[in-house]
Amino acid sequence: MSDIDQIVRENLNAVREEIENSCTAISRDPSEVKLVAVTKYAKPEWVRSLYRLHRVFGENRPQQLAERAPQFDNAEWHLIGQLQRNKTRSAVSHASVIHSIDSLRLLRRVIQVGSDLQKKPVLLLQVNVTGEATKSGFAPDELESLWPEILALVPANQLGGLMTMAAASDDPESARPAFAGLRILREQLVSNPLSVEHGCQLPELSMGMSGDFPVAVAEGATMVRVGSRLFEGLE
Ligand SMILES: *Cc1c(COP(=O)(O)O)cnc(C)c1O
Repeated sequence: MSDIDQIVRENLNAVREEIENSCTAISRDPSEVKLVAVTKYAKPEWVRSLYRLHRVFGENRPQQLAERAPQFDNAEWHLIGQLQRNKTRSAVSHASVIHSIDSLRLLRRVIQVGSDLQKKPVLLLQVNVTGEATKSGFAPDELESLWPEILALVPANQLGGLMTMAAASDDPESARPAFAGLRILREQLVSNPLSVEHGCQLPELSMGMSGDFPVAVAEGATMVRVGSRLFEGLE
């Protein structure tokens, strides 16, 4: 085993263990939480090393996603970063999940391109729970008012759930209100009679990054997007 393999293995095991511990503490089944390994800053050889142990990856730029996804058989690639409308084709071609649907306009475009390309990536709606001006995403009340339109546009089985990013901080606990807010918003949307009528259950909550994923898991995350922790110690 090379040094890279060993470091990646140790980091991955540590992250998996923290997810498990977080689940155990609240009697959740760890298999409910998918680890999306964010490779945006990872060198190709680090990704190859991780690929021997793990098969779910996230990229934040459609171009790097399009370059990398075809190089790895039997892996699942997620787009987690902001998507410009003119990059929609490559995102829809290569991503099994798009976490960053942040406007109705983008949603319409992704559905249109998906039908052209005969692809149906799972779509997550990005929510700006903290209301920071620099963050993209739907405001929670905006999402509630757009809900009828969204349900009419997206097949229920393609609408995977919600995604958020907490404010950057050294204290993981400071992210908890944002994560809890996303969980509560999901519950509200799911209990909307229209959601029931459409069979829309929003199973996924994508939240938690290297600095705060254990808190996100405690608040109900079903997908955590972890990058730097997995490649710590490499250069
Ligand atoms: C980079 C990125 C992550 C992972 O961040 P780390 O702090 O490196 O774990 C998660 N989500 C999004 C949207 C990102 O852009």
